[in-house]
Amino acid sequence: MPYIELNVLNNTLPEPAVGIDLGTTNSLAAVWREGRPIVLAPEGRSGLVPSVVYVPSEGTPVVGREARDQAVVDPRHTVFSIKRFMGRGLADVQSELAARPYRATESQRGLVQLELRGRKYTPQELSALILMKVRDVACAALGGQTVSRAVITVPAYFDDAQRQATRDAARLAGLDVLRIINEPTAASLAYGLDQRDKGHVAVFDLGGGTFDISVLAIEDGVFRVLSTNGDTHLGGDDFDERLAELARREIGSVAGARVLEEPGFQQAVRLAAEKCKIELSTQPESEMHLVVPELRLNWRRRVTREEFDALCADLIGRTLDCCRRALSDAKLKPAQIDEVVLVGGSTRVPAVRARVEAWFGRRPHTELNPDEVVALGAAVQAHILTGGKRDMLLMDVTPLSLGVETMGGAVDKVIQRNTTIPCSATAGYTTYADNQTGLDFNIVQGERELAKDCRSLGRFQLKGVPPMPAGLARIAVRFHIDADGVLMVTAKEESTGETAQIEVQPMHGLTDAEVEGMLKSGFAHARDDFHARRVADLKIEIGTMVRATEKNLHAAHGGLDRETFLDLEESLARAKAATQKDDLDALQKARDEFERATLPLAALLMNNVAQKALMGKKLGDV
Ligand code: ADP
Ligand code: MG
Repeated sequence: MPYIELNVLNNTLPEPAVGIDLGTTNSLAAVWREGRPIVLAPEGRSGLVPSVVYVPSEGTPVVGREARDQAVVDPRHTVFSIKRFMGRGLADVQSELAARPYRATESQRGLVQLELRGRKYTPQELSALILMKVRDVACAALGGQTVSRAVITVPAYFDDAQRQATRDAARLAGLDVLRIINEPTAASLAYGLDQRDKGHVAVFDLGGGTFDISVLAIEDGVFRVLSTNGDTHLGGDDFDERLAELARREIGSVAGARVLEEPGFQQAVRLAAEKCKIELSTQPESEMHLVVPELRLNWRRRVTREEFDALCADLIGRTLDCCRRALSDAKLKPAQIDEVVLVGGSTRVPAVRARVEAWFGRRPHTELNPDEVVALGAAVQAHILTGGKRDMLLMDVTPLSLGVETMGGAVDKVIQRNTTIPCSATAGYTTYADNQTGLDFNIVQGERELAKDCRSLGRFQLKGVPPMPAGLARIAVRFHIDADGVLMVTAKEESTGETAQIEVQPMHGLTDAEVEGMLKSGFAHARDDFHARRVADLKIEIGTMVRATEKNLHAAHGGLDRETFLDLEESLARAKAATQKDDLDALQKARDEFERATLPLAALLMNNVAQKALMGKKLGDV
């Protein structure tokens, strides 16, 4: 069992540390009180703050419920789902922007900015406005106590840039971030599943616009994320859209297609659809009711739960496809999952619950409100970090492999995908030319075998390597990912202790589609890649052997018998010829043959070295 130190912060401050679920659709804060986490909500009302910002023509931006209501009236100045833009560049969010009515530009640092009423807003600023609103609600619920420290949750697949953007948003909101933790981990904590000594947990999170499935392992109270999967465009909005389609079809045929184009109508349809959907979670039958006075529209339609289930059956099917992939990545069968946790408002839909239960063959946890469970878990973590009991460790995983580009363009994977964080790993490198005093490192992320097919996270240089023959320098490259998922890479030359390092905080992260694409192409090209990689590696290896041999050819001529020497010369020529082509078999054969032919030379050189070393020493010293 690895021992990992818990970062227990000073607990002398009297003010509470809260947990915040900064969601795509809704955000919420919770706090630890009398031995358990509770949601922070004003008397008799829900604490859920819709993650929506409305920018009025005058005065300060409006956040939450009021902002969401503005969407019907003024959709052009209302921002939804800002979480999708966090830590992203303009190119990453093109398809996302297509459906939005406002302009977007790119900042100097390559991050996307949204333009509303002539002012540019970064996603961090807009998220900060949401966090401030959540904090205000929390302060009010705590009877006016100040709230300045928080644990904030992010999806398990969030990369460094997205986590950093989340931290920045919190800082802008005046919050001190104790830690960023993964949403599925938080949900498991809320259910106290860390208290099991052993088991596998599947966290099924269907929110407003996103679906995530995560498989966690618990061992001796320690959490580990085994795999994650999901769909970044699948959620309750799609359920609403199915009902909205039904409404548009039927209204269009009576009121004419022109009505359907009206922005006011579009928003009204969506709201009516969502209301109907929510009612169907508790009633067998409901009504979609649409009133748009400007269009003189007053339309009603009864919808049964059965009809709704049929409209959404394929959407639920898609979530189960993701579950299948996540379990396969974790190398588990549904029967090996001991606990299933439902997260996200959309898991209140009875058909979702029923099908998840049938698929896993196990009744899922639904005791806590699915749209509160992440915030509750974040509060548990905040309590632990501020010195509370329940000492257990949280571990998350890296979504993609991390590595170093090697000579010849191959990738040396130093940390494999789905490795638990925090983690570190060290790989050894050396110089490839005599008297080489510097090395360039390109840090890459991705599943492909060649660096050009992965994403470069950053480059840096190690200087001051003492001049020595190729292959003698010992350079240790250490990758360290901290608990927040920030990567630090350090290169160190062992003899001089010379070091160079970078903290990898890319300008902007990968798009989910890119992550998905990279994962997919990693599998699709696995064979090609492996081939190309072997070719690149063999060429390097042969090149090094060729240089070493040529340097010692003179010694070989004097020290080896004629036949052995000729054999060496021939295989040297064949090896050089082989590196001119990309024929894997030929390269492999040339390498093996060359290696065999150099053995006598190696023995000879060893003897020479040994003799030199032994010279002047008495026999007894040896
Ligand atoms: P996110 O994690 O994306 O921020 P939530 O977990 O709060 O969002 O989920 C929001 C979604 O849950 C919305 O699509 C909303 O319509 C849906 N939802 C909330 N309550 C219910 C309910 N009772 N029945 C069905 N769907 C619901
Ligand atoms: Mg959520």
